[in-house]
Amino acid sequence: MSTKSLRQSQLFTKTRREAPADEVAKNAQLLIRAGYIYKNMAGAYTFLPLGLRVIEKINTIIREEMDAIGGQEMVMPSLQDSALWEASDRWSDDNVDVWFKSELKAGGVVGFGWTHEEVITDLMRQYISSYKDLPKFPYQIQKKFRNEMRAKSGIMRTREFDMKDLYSFSATQEQHDAFYNACSDAYMKIFHRFGIGHMTYKTFASGGAFSKFSHEFQTLAEAGEDIVYVSEAKGVAVNEEVVKEADLSELGVTEGELEKRKSIEVGNIFSLGTKFSEALNLRFTDENGEEKPVIMGSYGIGPARSMGTIVDLLSDDKGIVWPESVAPFKVHLVGLNLDDASIRDWAEGIFDNLTDNGIEVLFDDRIEARAGEKFADSDLIGLPYRVVVSKKSKENGTFEVVTRATGEVRQLTETELYADFDNNPNT
Ligand code: ATP
Ligand code: MG
Repeated sequence: MSTKSLRQSQLFTKTRREAPADEVAKNAQLLIRAGYIYKNMAGAYTFLPLGLRVIEKINTIIREEMDAIGGQEMVMPSLQDSALWEASDRWSDDNVDVWFKSELKAGGVVGFGWTHEEVITDLMRQYISSYKDLPKFPYQIQKKFRNEMRAKSGIMRTREFDMKDLYSFSATQEQHDAFYNACSDAYMKIFHRFGIGHMTYKTFASGGAFSKFSHEFQTLAEAGEDIVYVSEAKGVAVNEEVVKEADLSELGVTEGELEKRKSIEVGNIFSLGTKFSEALNLRFTDENGEEKPVIMGSYGIGPARSMGTIVDLLSDDKGIVWPESVAPFKVHLVGLNLDDASIRDWAEGIFDNLTDNGIEVLFDDRIEARAGEKFADSDLIGLPYRVVVSKKSKENGTFEVVTRATGEVRQLTETELYADFDNNPNT
């Protein structure tokens, strides 16, 4: 993780008072105004320097938790061979409604990957032949393209987006189930580390042909496009399809206990059985010399959708409120009275000291901006701590420290400041 600090005067981006008129999603409105993202067109956004730092922190958390359960990262291409998809009967636009496709000048057609089951199953044929090669858990954080009909949820539903997609390859159902459960636990850890765990439910969803249920990770939020039925008391959530079709008593709840809520699907996990291994001929030899298709699962998380969810859930009327774990910087050092060279030199020293102490600092070193403007920007940008360096703090020998999430205001000496931030290291 980079501990690099940054001067606001060097940022090419700026905050803005109003979001574009065509931006209806709260997450994108706030992120655009605060200078994290830029809307290029419906369903396609730029992650600006501040936004990229958030995404990188999100991705780091995902990587740590995936690696901890045996995940191995790689990156597969977006351009995909139609033949693989014909093998699984998912090439036709009648079967899949989100394809982007393109013709090659050299002849033939390629698809822009909207998921990677076919590609990875084909690839793994090179590396799996025996039960000794199993289980394996490759994953990537990589671009997906989807021709989504509606893209009005800001960065939560775009036509081009990064997905963390992990695929499991197992020899036996027990092996598969063990990983499925480990991944489910890892997902909850991830969402807790994002600061949205308290609102996120592992939700029963329909399982397809190979298991009774799959699971979606649904975060309760008014901005959500999904509907879930939740018993907060029992910690059980069920999606719309399952409510209609399944016997709820099996899930330990009655219909009367479930409350209908809007939600955001931040991740999901799915048992694929042998659907793709049979279609694409991924087989292994078991202990008894018998040839069998590999048992697979797929496990997705949307980093940008997660970022949008965090913003949606944790912001207030002044702006974004980042949890420390994903904040682009820990401290917003706001310099006032910087037109006075002696204050400026002294403030620069504080900035250097904080940075040397390993603290990630965004230093509002802009000389012309007024105090009110700086504070409003600081609230909008939403870093966990704001520290004011001004003529007054130099004279008093203490700094005003405001905790963004609680509004708590403290006066700390320089030594207390370092001690305080040492006790709260980044992530
Ligand atoms: P949805 O039902 O919301 O369209 P999905 O079932 O198509 O989601 P998956 O194909 O399982 O989702 O993708 C895995 C994860 O990728 C999702 O849980 C979500 O976090 C993210 N994701 C899916 N579609 C998009 C999108 N269009 N933009 C951003 N993130 C997305
Ligand atoms: Mg979808």
